[in-house]
Amino acid sequence: MVAPPRSAYLHIPFCHKRCFYCDFSIIPLGDSAQAPGSPGITSINAYLDLLHREISIAPKGPALSTIYFGGGTPSLLKKNEVSDLLINLQRKFGFQDGAEITMEVDPATFFENDLNGYIGIGINRFSLGAQAFDDITLASIGRKHKRSQLIEACNWINNLFKKGILRSWSLDLIQNLPGLNLSKWIKELEQAVLTEAPHLSIYDLTIEPDTVFGRLHKKGKLNIPIDSEAQQIDFETNRLLKSRGFARYEISSYSLPGHASRHNRMYWSGSGWWGFGMGATSAPWGERFSRPRTIAGYKKWLEQQENQLLEKTLFNEKSKPMPLDELLMIGLRRREGVHLEEFAKNAGWTKKECDKNLKSLEKFWLNFINEGYLLTNNGRYFLSDPKGMQISNQILIQMFLWWDSLDLDQ
Ligand code: SF4
Repeated sequence: MVAPPRSAYLHIPFCHKRCFYCDFSIIPLGDSAQAPGSPGITSINAYLDLLHREISIAPKGPALSTIYFGGGTPSLLKKNEVSDLLINLQRKFGFQDGAEITMEVDPATFFENDLNGYIGIGINRFSLGAQAFDDITLASIGRKHKRSQLIEACNWINNLFKKGILRSWSLDLIQNLPGLNLSKWIKELEQAVLTEAPHLSIYDLTIEPDTVFGRLHKKGKLNIPIDSEAQQIDFETNRLLKSRGFARYEISSYSLPGHASRHNRMYWSGSGWWGFGMGATSAPWGERFSRPRTIAGYKKWLEQQENQLLEKTLFNEKSKPMPLDELLMIGLRRREGVHLEEFAKNAGWTKKECDKNLKSLEKFWLNFINEGYLLTNNGRYFLSDPKGMQISNQILIQMFLWWDSLDLDQ
């Protein structure tokens, strides 16, 4: 039996405009997104109404220990709008003492005073979407903010953190962006460290087909680092951040002691979570379920749930646990990796199925184990850092080949 979820994700899909690499489920509102009486405000109000309705029809569950406002750009919401959502969640589930409540914020969408407002209603962790510091790079990836706005935002947030008013904060950067060779990237990284953010998320650029970058890449017009350069960039990132006291607790996540994201660790542990909003994924009982990615689709889906009150992710009788291949895929991202037998049991495998099938995975991984990319200890498998983490996809491909080779009755 999967433990009931203690985490919730709320998707706030609004952005000023779509960045060139982004294929998230969002609604671009243009420059007047926050202007009183603008169509943007009307869209936000209509969406928040749907989000509240979805929270209202969720079944009761244990008190939440992590809540995450992601997007999109949650900082396009006003303090009272975020507060109303928190009140609705609290009424439904309650919050544990010391719950981690994170909000993604985007430079150029807030002032210092707004941050104080968000903290006043319960937000205790900000995740700031920097992506890059250099103005030319920012413009070339379609970001709205400028370097000066980013530095100002970092200073505001860090002052609150240093005064003890804010519990923690994180800065996002993207590595392997077009035109960012190793020396330019190291300058970016040095600036990220200078902000004093106690948590850094360093994402690899992913080229999604239905984006500006996807189309440029198809035409061969995107100048991104080749694989060997990308490996060097990752190696140097790892070296520099560790020399400044950061630990890599997951492939893309570095933190100073005590500042790992509890919400993100929950995802990678295979625990269940509530998800609310357009395009959001939830997995309260293990099995994942994604909501429609358009506002019209989400509204229709919500109306169906309200009529039937039988949304399959909300009632556990029909749901299955998360399958083992998915559990391994997410679990291997973590520094501590996966314990094969424990994970298999969490996925509902019997002892007999474990004995029959788990040993053969090692054969698929043998080369990686022999070469030191994958380390093992008492049934636990974990990627070496940085060598194994850099080629995690190849290791996962072998795991999926093993998965396809199994003759499972489930
Ligand atoms: S701000 Fe974030 S969510 Fe919005 S378009 Fe850019 S990358 Fe996507």
